[in-house]
Amino acid sequence: MQVYPHEKFDGIYWVEFEDGSKKLATVNLAPSFKVYGEQLISHEGVEYRIWNAYRSKLAASILKNIREIAVKPGFKILYLGAAAGTTVSHVSDIVGVNGKVYSVEFAPRVFRKLLTVCEKRRNIIPILADARMPSLYRTMVPKVDGIYCDVAQPEQAKLLVANAEMFLKYGGMIMLAIKARSIDVTLEPSEIYRREINYLKEGGFNILDTVHLEPFDKAHAMVSARYVSNIKEKQDR
Ligand code: SAM
Repeated sequence: MQVYPHEKFDGIYWVEFEDGSKKLATVNLAPSFKVYGEQLISHEGVEYRIWNAYRSKLAASILKNIREIAVKPGFKILYLGAAAGTTVSHVSDIVGVNGKVYSVEFAPRVFRKLLTVCEKRRNIIPILADARMPSLYRTMVPKVDGIYCDVAQPEQAKLLVANAEMFLKYGGMIMLAIKARSIDVTLEPSEIYRREINYLKEGGFNILDTVHLEPFDKAHAMVSARYVSNIKEKQDR
């Protein structure tokens, strides 16, 4: 078995097995603890967690060769739609002890599971709130380097833009997982992707990349974009 850094993204690794197959992994910030039954691998004194792309759209985006991601070591990330913490836990591994993951979730049942993940990971700040109302958690979240949004709800681009206006640094990045069917069942997925992407552009984002996540996730796309709104306005002041 070999372990080596991902060629593009810091804090992410490849684990290559004897049979030549390889999988994504992150360094386990909470050694010996699993979050969703993932495989743990020890290599040269470091414990890695295999990152399942069928369970995490962020991992799927990386396997689908997305050009840039919003998550880097040391970053402060606002995570909208944290659920029970599957992807949040890998984001927590990547940002490491110098970063933070402000994790918003509004369903109490999954939020309770998220709290058990937070007990072992001090860089996750759990926030039980509706992401459509960012002013309610304004005092808990500072300016962030990136926003990851996976709420699978109508108007997800709209709530992402509202959060960006409040929390995202100029030049910061976002990732938006678009679940076409949950937004409007009467529209074709491509039409929904176009509509959400247009909303991001109007909200001040430069689109960097869009990848479709099949076979890992059907009828989903991931968009990455950079926040450029008001940069000019700020410079002009
Ligand atoms: N990102 C998670 C992962 O990869 O582990 C999966 C997220 S799941 C597809 C979507 C989650 O968003 C659900 O847990 C749901 O309760 C939450 N959600 C939906 N609308 C929300 C809102 N307005 N505010 C906060 N959470 C929301």
